[in-house]
Amino acid sequence: MTSSTYNFKDYIRVISDFPQPGIRFKDITTLLKDGDVYRAAIEQMRAAVEHLKIDVVAGPEARGFVVGAPLALALGVGFAPIRKSGKLPGATITASYDLEYGKDQLAMHTDSISPGQRVLIADDLLATGGTIATSINLIKQLGGEVAGAAFLIELAYLTGRSKLDGVDIFSLMTYE
Ligand code: AMP
Repeated sequence: MTSSTYNFKDYIRVISDFPQPGIRFKDITTLLKDGDVYRAAIEQMRAAVEHLKIDVVAGPEARGFVVGAPLALALGVGFAPIRKSGKLPGATITASYDLEYGKDQLAMHTDSISPGQRVLIADDLLATGGTIATSINLIKQLGGEVAGAAFLIELAYLTGRSKLDGVDIFSLMTYE
């Protein structure tokens, strides 16, 4: 099958009331387990962002790794992990973000991006945009230029896009 023949949403399992009542969780594991569909999804993302002339892909743990690392390889560039603070062994910078209850922090190695590099942020899903806004903060602290953001899924009704002003956004699937 060629990539254009897949309806990727058919491979997303929607689980109601996970991890809490009222959330319709988009489970991507049903897409990932099919090698042909996974490859086709990454290839479509690669083709969509190719024109951005990316130098490095950055992705937040854990599902941002599953999307960002293969996308980096497909683009022929490196990958910079964005992790919860306390996980990276070298010198880091951190940025805080609000959770429903309290705050959390994301971190990057100070040498993971060089000043002036064009960075693509990759993640599984754009919801409220909080994670990506925090990732942008980190990349800018390191002097990187956020050239774009790519997602398997965008939940358009949560308007995360509005937090990513000026960033070129590609989403393989959109739920209205
Ligand atoms: P946000 O910071 O609100 O854009 O979302 C952060 C992360 O939460 C996303 O990258 C997803 O991994 C996860 N997430 C949020 N909402 C959902 C959902 N409905 N289904 C699956 N994952 C979700």
